[in-house]
Amino acid sequence: MLQNKDLLTIAKEFGTPLYVYDTYSIKKQYERLITAFKNVSKLKINYAAKALSNITILKFIKKLGSGLDTVSIQEVKLGLIAGFKAGEIIYTPNGVSFNEIAEVAKMGVQINIDNISILKEFGEKYKSIPVCIRINPHVDAGGNYKISVGHEDSKFGISINQIPILLTIISNTKIKINGIHMHTGSDVLDINDFLNASDILLKHAMYFKDLDFIDFGGGFKVPYKPGDIETNINELGNKLADRFNSFCKSYGKKIDFILEPGKFLVSDAGYFLTSVNVVKQTNSTIFVHLNSGFNHLIRPMYYDSYHHIENISNIGGKKKIYTVVGYICETDTFGKNREIEKISKGDVLVFKNAGAYCFTMASNYNSRPRPSEVLWHNNKSLLIREEEDFDDILNKQLDVELD
Ligand SMILES: *Cc1c(COP(=O)(O)O)cnc(C)c1O
Repeated sequence: MLQNKDLLTIAKEFGTPLYVYDTYSIKKQYERLITAFKNVSKLKINYAAKALSNITILKFIKKLGSGLDTVSIQEVKLGLIAGFKAGEIIYTPNGVSFNEIAEVAKMGVQINIDNISILKEFGEKYKSIPVCIRINPHVDAGGNYKISVGHEDSKFGISINQIPILLTIISNTKIKINGIHMHTGSDVLDINDFLNASDILLKHAMYFKDLDFIDFGGGFKVPYKPGDIETNINELGNKLADRFNSFCKSYGKKIDFILEPGKFLVSDAGYFLTSVNVVKQTNSTIFVHLNSGFNHLIRPMYYDSYHHIENISNIGGKKKIYTVVGYICETDTFGKNREIEKISKGDVLVFKNAGAYCFTMASNYNSRPRPSEVLWHNNKSLLIREEEDFDDILNKQLDVELD
């Protein structure tokens, strides 16, 4: 496992800012899921690519035996490049154009449709291609409002109350529904939320006679602070397996049980390394400015997420209280009043849990390049993405003559 002293060596070798991912952690999390859901007879795991979509990471996760959950045609293409077969990919877009859905369907990828008008159009044009439908079970789950997506007012999925309309469209178009799906949110801690939503999904699954799979989505919470709580994955696995197996009995067929974890597989595997530009004492606060900002890591500002911060240039040093901020010309607080080992200019600070929704949400705001990514694999560090440079900032811009 990756230690702070290894991270410091990697920071010296590749420079900062830098994302580092530990394959050991991804494998460990994958195996935890397999163990937790061992009582399910036909378990499939589809990694949610949007959490971290570097093709070398996708290749590693494919080698573990996973399939892929995608939300855009670009993610589908990345998956194919990484070696996933079209049949191992599910595509769960939200509100994308009909043309994109049709294009992905023609590639042989499993389509998951989340609104009635597209289902109708798809059924009329391509009734020979079976599709999955995303159901909105109307439950409040997830760590905060922005990432709770299975409630009544959410834009995601087809409402369970609209099942009668669904059934009419299915019988009119003769389209085959081979799977049903839900994804209720991210950071779902209470397994009862998950189980309640699953019960609703299973109850409504009985309406569909040609199911090959049921997809329960992702959203398991991971610990963000030392001593933090996480989804009790073993208890969830046992209870959900019981429910699913008895569903299969009454359904009369053993179908696939699919999970789509993103954060659970890659959050803990990621480290974001930054260096201290300035330590600034004001009247009330000691600010630490890093050589990064929400252009590289936006979760603390966008979701108020907590990322644990340590000073790996002063491991075991005496702690002081700091407010850690970025270099962006906008308020970009990474952490307020944090207890961190004494910080000096040039020190390397690490953000933990920087695997999921960190690099993939990075931007070029303030015309800054996005950082490199490094994979820590079998005790070796491998560069898996080069840092952008000024050419990348200028790329695609047109210098138009104005009169
Ligand atoms: C984002 C997403 C996931 C993964 O969510 P996590 O919270 O990262 O586990 C799974 N399924 C769908 C459809 C998603 O959009």
